[in-house]
Amino acid sequence: MKGLMTPARKYFFDEPVRRVGPTARASAEVRGKTMAETDLRSIVHTMMPQVRADLENLVRIPSVSLPGFPGEPLGKAAEAVAELFKGVGVGNARVAEVSGGYPTVYGEIEGPPGAPTVLLYAHYDVQPPGPEEKWDSPPFEPEERGGRLYGRGAADDKSGVVMHAAAIRAFEGKPPVGIKIVVEGEEESDSHLDAYVLENPDPFQADVIVVGDTGNWKVGEPTLTTTLRGLATCTVEVNTLKEPVHSGMFGGPAPDALIVLIHLLAELHDDMGGPCVPGVDSGPWDGLDYSEETYRETAGVLPGVPLVGKGTVSERLWTSPSVTVIGLDAPQVEGAANALIPSARAQVSMRVPPGQDSREARAALARHLDASAPWGVKVNVTEGLEGPAFLARTDGRGYDAARKAMLESYGRETVLMGQGGSIPLISNLSSIAPGAEIILWGAEDGVAAIHAPNESVDLTELEHCILSEALFLRYLVV
Ligand SMILES: [Zn+2]
Repeated sequence: MKGLMTPARKYFFDEPVRRVGPTARASAEVRGKTMAETDLRSIVHTMMPQVRADLENLVRIPSVSLPGFPGEPLGKAAEAVAELFKGVGVGNARVAEVSGGYPTVYGEIEGPPGAPTVLLYAHYDVQPPGPEEKWDSPPFEPEERGGRLYGRGAADDKSGVVMHAAAIRAFEGKPPVGIKIVVEGEEESDSHLDAYVLENPDPFQADVIVVGDTGNWKVGEPTLTTTLRGLATCTVEVNTLKEPVHSGMFGGPAPDALIVLIHLLAELHDDMGGPCVPGVDSGPWDGLDYSEETYRETAGVLPGVPLVGKGTVSERLWTSPSVTVIGLDAPQVEGAANALIPSARAQVSMRVPPGQDSREARAALARHLDASAPWGVKVNVTEGLEGPAFLARTDGRGYDAARKAMLESYGRETVLMGQGGSIPLISNLSSIAPGAEIILWGAEDGVAAIHAPNESVDLTELEHCILSEALFLRYLVV
């Protein structure tokens, strides 16, 4: 059972925490300035063998959080993460139980008076490795090939864990800002931390929240993820007959439930194949221009298959809804009988563009499904899941510091990118700390193959990320 594999502990999040407040820079500058005189680039470069050893150590622990996998490695990984952060100067780093789930590693470093507080988030749990024969080296035995370190979790998200630890280590445990670390163990499964954050907002208050669980769209191209689409699902059920009846004897006058459902589902897209749910609109996108070619290749679109909808690929992916039928209850083709179908059911899932309320979007989807039933047939629509979309505020000093840090680290200007899926924790953090800037970055580049066989992290990219994060902490105060 989840959460029982590590000894029960007092829940540590609720210890008193320092209030965050407006920034009086005076004393923060003392530490910041001292560090500004040292060369973070060479410090980080010198640290890399240690960082790699830390990462390999974590990758060797098969901390798969999904149901059906043993819980013991999760406890072991949590302990290893707490030790890692203790070792870099977070003296109070501790394994904190999350009721009903795997523990979260939490710790704090008090900043100089008046300095901003930065919350660093990552997760130590990983996806299952899948079939081992699809891996070129065993998933939990890290191996370097061509400058990339291969292994499950090497990128998602143990790279984020070591990135945060290394950024703190670069300041010898005395960063110029206040630090909170939150490293969860259930990001890949049913997170209990999401709800915990809403119920216990105090420990998660910060001026800037850094989520180290994304990456550059391409190695060496500094990228900040600024939008996430939300989620809204509905189930629609059609009942037209008491039971299946012979299509020769009865076919014609009575509406077949599956045909009704097909007509209704066809109304979810327009003539160009774009999503069509009244009340849920597309928005503009002015960040990275995701090319059609890259999209085709990464999504695995078969040759000759046209792309559908309108607008740029970036708009369609990041600031527009998308609608998919993710489940369908209908008779199978094999063994199909010549009969009218009495009942049919579909689950419809919509990605909600940033800036739109996901509950309203879900209601709009339900209304549209209901109104689309043909020929006066009544259908039952049930609203399902809902997850908020996210739109980062990018005009604050956290983003200024992040852009400046990436420019110095990579020698290139930052591009903005969206992400097609939702991360519930981010929405929850932004609702409990509405004033906080939220920065999403990390070492999960476009070819990191997260959740897939042969996941890897580029070690040079990881070094650039660590340098970016260290510089970012400095630039917040100087
Ligand atoms: Zn992740």
